[in-house]
Amino acid sequence: MYDVIIVGGGVAAFTAALFTGRRGLKVLVIGKDIGGQANYTDTIENFPGLPAVGGYELVSSIRSQAEKWGSEYLEAEVTRIKSTETGFVVTAYGSQYKSKTVILAFGKTPRDLGVPGEDELKGRGVSFCATCDAPLYKGKTVAVAGVGDVSLDAILLCSKYSKKVYALSKTDRLQGHPGLVKAISRKTNVELVPFIQIQEVVGTTQLEKLKLHDLATGQQRDLPIHGLFVELGYVVNADFVKDLVQLDDQSQIVVGADQSTNMPGIFAAGDVTNRHYKQAAISAGEAATAALACYDYLARLEGRFGLTSDWTQIKRVK
Ligand SMILES: Cc1cc2nc3c(=O)[nH]c(=O)nc-3n(C[C@H](O)[C@H](O)[C@H](O)COP(=O)(O)OP(=O)(O)OC[C@H]3O[C@@H](n4cnc5c(N)ncnc54)[C@H](O)[C@@H]3O)c2cc1C
Repeated sequence: MYDVIIVGGGVAAFTAALFTGRRGLKVLVIGKDIGGQANYTDTIENFPGLPAVGGYELVSSIRSQAEKWGSEYLEAEVTRIKSTETGFVVTAYGSQYKSKTVILAFGKTPRDLGVPGEDELKGRGVSFCATCDAPLYKGKTVAVAGVGDVSLDAILLCSKYSKKVYALSKTDRLQGHPGLVKAISRKTNVELVPFIQIQEVVGTTQLEKLKLHDLATGQQRDLPIHGLFVELGYVVNADFVKDLVQLDDQSQIVVGADQSTNMPGIFAAGDVTNRHYKQAAISAGEAATAALACYDYLARLEGRFGLTSDWTQIKRVK
């Protein structure tokens, strides 16, 4: 029986592990990977105290710090959390783990196109992170499917490495920041493919081509490419907890000031919550709060003294 199981493998999960571990709790972190979204960026320049740090490097370092305080880590996907009389049963890859409390810190994941072939060719030509993978397509032909500034950024980045970049659009133009659109229009290796919808991603061991549907003419055609960058933004995949905790209309977990959810014993932190701003430092802050609130919850449950915040001792000075 763990005191707390933390679901996630990013900044929030390992920060929560650090703070709960330092309070002497028995902690298990279950995450699909180490790093989360921080892996999608080369350098984070706004994490306090670290002028420039790699995303993976940052999360790995928080993980080491947490493990010094005894937290365990299991690489697996959590598919179910069940509330019981004594706490919670967390299912990951068919095995069950018991805990008194849970901290949900499973962040956001890139949005899929949802077309045949996409899943099978993920990491084999289909990428969700131009920042990470664009250099792999040096001298090759790629396509970018996406919306908004993030996809315009991806087009510009790919144009630095690839011989040819197809910018796929469902309309007759690229939409987003005018400066980015203008910068793309100056690139001779970028070709706009207007009124296009991807129907299928095709390849045996590696991506070979896209099957496209022309929304203007209704015709179909193939586009041979080596790489496809899907830049559709990020979503919260909270289906597995939708019957357990309250979600908002974007599937984000609704939390109170102390990061508690509507289910006693379950807390949430980081990009997965309904707080408006999403940054690594904010995820870390929310996770520290969730961890201390979790400790307090267990202390109350077990009849011990909880934490006293320093500021409650300070008298108001006029
Ligand atoms: C391209 C890009 C650049 C960015 N640049 C910056 C920046 O410069 N500065 C900054 O402060 N922020 C930046 N951010 C935002 C920052 O990366 C995020 O706010 C932060 O990483 C969120 O951390 P998190 O731990 O809350 O969630 P995430 O990083 O999303 O981590 C969630 C973790 O949970 C895991 N997970 C998901 N579902 C499950 C499940 N069912 N079971 C087990 N594990 C699961 C995931 O695999 C992942 O490990 C950037 C984000 C992106 C995408």
